[in-house]
Amino acid sequence: MGETRQDSCGDNALSISDLIGRKRDGKALLEEEIEFFVQGVVEGSIQGAQIGAMLMAMFIRGLDDAETASLTRAMTHSGDVLKWPKEWKGSIVDKHSTGGVGDKVSLVLAPALAACGVKVPMVSGRGLGHTGGTLDKLESIPGFNVSLSHDDMLKVLEDVGCCIVGQTSNLVPADKILYATRDVTSTTECIGLITSSIISKKVAESLDSLVLDVKFGQGAFSDTEEMARQLATRMVKAGNRSGVKTEALLTDMNSPLGYMIGNALEVAESIDCLHGKGPKDLTELVKQLGGRLLASANKAPSLEKAFSMIDKTLHDGTAIAKFADMMKAQGVNADVADKLCAKDADVFEILPKSEHTTELKAKTSGYVHGIDAMKCAVVSGKLGAGRTKAGEAISPDVGLTLSVQIGDKIEEGSTWVTVHHNGELPIVLFEKISGAIDIKPDIKQTTGKVLGVITENISEQ
Ligand code: URA
Repeated sequence: MGETRQDSCGDNALSISDLIGRKRDGKALLEEEIEFFVQGVVEGSIQGAQIGAMLMAMFIRGLDDAETASLTRAMTHSGDVLKWPKEWKGSIVDKHSTGGVGDKVSLVLAPALAACGVKVPMVSGRGLGHTGGTLDKLESIPGFNVSLSHDDMLKVLEDVGCCIVGQTSNLVPADKILYATRDVTSTTECIGLITSSIISKKVAESLDSLVLDVKFGQGAFSDTEEMARQLATRMVKAGNRSGVKTEALLTDMNSPLGYMIGNALEVAESIDCLHGKGPKDLTELVKQLGGRLLASANKAPSLEKAFSMIDKTLHDGTAIAKFADMMKAQGVNADVADKLCAKDADVFEILPKSEHTTELKAKTSGYVHGIDAMKCAVVSGKLGAGRTKAGEAISPDVGLTLSVQIGDKIEEGSTWVTVHHNGELPIVLFEKISGAIDIKPDIKQTTGKVLGVITENISEQ
């Protein structure tokens, strides 16, 4: 297909430069026009400059709900769409998070859901950013293989019920090109483009139900709750319009999730949580996200029951057993997996440990009012936990362990954070992390991290 599409009389019905001009002038694009654009992107018949110009027009003019749905649909069908056995219909679920500091939810959620009998084909990312993505965290476990073919995924889902894998090369190929172009044309932060990018990949997994964790605050992509609400609302609409039952939680990312930040450290905290000994905020978020998926997939008579079903798996050994089975099915030696998941195991006999640790002490007594998630992320990133360019190596062993969370009482001179580092801890990082805690004399009331729920037509506080 060339740069124009011929109509039945042989005239040029669609031309990419006309479409760019129409979008530039503020006209909404029709479904077939968006399909034509996406097809041209994937086939290579549209020039890079034209892709960039269209993205800029979309960025400046915005995409309405119908355009977003059309772009989502066209991107979904730009490559393979995963296929599952008919008997699984109704039970295939997944979650997506917009990303946060200390966000290790997927590692706990996938096995907990599998223990409740649903299928979780979790396609996850490595992600650019200060701290590693889910795949980086899992790869700190010796032998863990995130590159599964569709047939491998089918087998693991049949045997275990959950897998966590990287994106295969032909899943939403349009997104790879558009995302890379957005990255170099300053067009990433556009709600319609973000929505179609995220939702098309989830729809291509052929899910029945999806829950989104849309974070806001210092350590999140959305600074404000309002921006997160707009993004969540658009994604919920696009998911539902694409045939996937979709809901979203709005969650606070001003302070890190849990106590541990860094790849191996987050695996360790996930294992604690799978043993029912996780931090309250992480456990609560897993229950809320998982419960909503179970209720959506009609696996629980009520939302309350669904929350307690997830909680039960974290306390009765079934979620940690699924995690062990998933590791074994994804390449981890059986003895290693069993050792990691044994009750009271020292997981750092297996997981990588940094050369040094440095403890930072509180300079005053009082109550913790804030722990700046962004400062924690930047320091972890500079220590080597994240990457700034695709393909860069990361250090699995570095990061931070907090000793306190928001609302806790703290005494002057007690440790509030331990920095895990290799080589000397640079003074600039020491200073940066020192400024991350806010201690005040008065008690701080805490509200929890889940601050809202977005369903198709209802927006609840
Ligand atoms: N994650 C994605 O997959 N796409 C975006 O556009 C933003 C975050």
